[in-house]
Order: sequence, then C-alpha cells, then structure tokens
Amino acid sequence: MIFMINVIIDREGCISCGQCWDACPNFFEENAEDGWSQIAKKFRIAGKPNEGVAFEDIEECVKQAAEGCPAQVIHVGAPSVGFDLV
Ligand code: SF4
Repeated sequence: MIFMINVIIDREGCISCGQCWDACPNFFEENAEDGWSQIAKKFRIAGKPNEGVAFEDIEECVKQAAEGCPAQVIHVGAPSVGFDLV
C-alpha cells in the first residue's frame, strides 16, 4: 500500500518568499517567468504547475512547506488515499 497526499498551490496568492522550495526543493520550485511557486514536473497532475501528488517519502517536507507558507496558499489533502502496487 502506498499513501499519497494531494497538493494544490493557489499560485496567484504566492508572494515568492522562497520558503517552500527551501524546505522541500524536490517538490517545489520557482517559476522562472512569474516568480511564483510551482510543483516540480514529475509530481504534477495532468501537467498542471499548481496541482500535484506527494508520496509518503516526501510527504513530511511538503507538509512542513505548507505549514510554513506565510501566505497560506499551499493546500495539502488528507493522506487517506492509497492503492496497492501489483
Ligand atoms: S512559501 Fe508560500 S508564499 Fe512562499 S514561495 Fe512558497 S507558495 Fe509562495
């Protein structure tokens, strides 16, 4: 069983402070054009820069980044979704 959490960034509310990509650099990164936070490509859902999935190996730093966001624009879903690998 693998658990994962959904992550959504309300990018328009981002103030580009850099806290999230400092706390969790594998998952969050700065968009080179607008300077707002985005989700790294390999974690995105349907290629969307503001929506992604974090598996349990990276879950803690994603939550830490969300809790530390001064603009409170990183939303983390409950870690209740899971599936079995076959
Ligand atoms: S911590 Fe929040 S405000 Fe700061 S860069 Fe990340 S999303 Fe933007």
